[in-house]
Amino acid sequence: MKIVTIIGARPQFIKAATVSRVIRDTKNIEEIIVHTGQHFDINMSDIFFNEMEIPKPNYNLNINGLGHGAMTGQMLEKIEEVLKSETPDYVLVYGDTNSTLAGALAAKKMHIKLAHVEAGLRSFNMKMPEEINRILSDRISDILFCPTEQAIKNLTEEGFKNFNIEIINSGDVMLDAALFYNQKAKPPSFKLPSQFILTTIHRAENTDNIEKLKSIVFALNNLSEDCNIVLPLHPRTQKIISENNLSFNKNRILLTAPVGYFEILYLLQNCKLVMTDSGGMQKEAYFFKKPCITLRDETEWVELVNLGANIIAGSNHENILNSYKMILKQNINFEAKIYGCGNAAEQIVDSLIK
Ligand code: UDP
Repeated sequence: MKIVTIIGARPQFIKAATVSRVIRDTKNIEEIIVHTGQHFDINMSDIFFNEMEIPKPNYNLNINGLGHGAMTGQMLEKIEEVLKSETPDYVLVYGDTNSTLAGALAAKKMHIKLAHVEAGLRSFNMKMPEEINRILSDRISDILFCPTEQAIKNLTEEGFKNFNIEIINSGDVMLDAALFYNQKAKPPSFKLPSQFILTTIHRAENTDNIEKLKSIVFALNNLSEDCNIVLPLHPRTQKIISENNLSFNKNRILLTAPVGYFEILYLLQNCKLVMTDSGGMQKEAYFFKKPCITLRDETEWVELVNLGANIIAGSNHENILNSYKMILKQNINFEAKIYGCGNAAEQIVDSLIK
């Protein structure tokens, strides 16, 4: 059996790492990896391939730095060429980026079976490019691998049971990765404060709206008086912060370049809490038994909110400060098996073989 895997962005490298490892350990499956080039530099791409031992991509399409239309269009064209020459049995796409949608469209139009990992998630915010990518990819897939019961429920409510699509609750591949690589966690090269909040910001809804970003920075400066903050900056956020001269309390907020996965695991293990607009980091906070404040107005990972492990604070600085006070008082159950048992990759590969 031949599988073509389409990946291009940081979260997809992490998600694909464990599935790719299981594929390599399984007889009679060949995986062809296509890197679209959406994330391309050392900190956002190479480090994941090297550390997590993801095989070097068979194709690097090198498509980046473009608007949504040009990026998705160019990817679609190039992926189609790859699929023509590889003629795989399956195309495997991950998550919700433009690479996901381009891979899904290319496969479906060529009548190649399509599998979507991390299917069924919804923010119900159609302004998010990710929401558009995931809804469209789900609808044209042949197999949907859902990370949670909530994802299955979302699909059921959208009528997916009426379509000829196999829907499987495989558990979350991010949990597989966290469990598998946990013991490889390594301290970053910079000196860490003894207690710190781990923060990341990169969602377009925060970075493309300077008022929202200023409000988050204001809240962080305020919070930093109470607890140090470590903030590995996504290149997009770094650029906007420099262009707008946003200033941080440098004595208490440690701004760094993006770190590798093994370092982020170390930071997750050792932080006091996580404050983020990342999808992956909300779950990782839970895996590492840390409360999380989400810097968005909604989340796809609602089970964390229901458990009291995550508070949706948005970008309003007062909400962020209040959420901080509230979450430290919560008594959180970190034992709920809401993301499966850490064997999502095995379940995915088994289902593809069948
Ligand atoms: N991550 C990392 N280094 C960083 C920040 C994040 O390795 O400096 C990892 C972290 O494990 C996170 C994952 O990258 O879950 C996903 O990335 P991101 O937050 O960019 O995307 P999202 O999960 O929001 O799609």
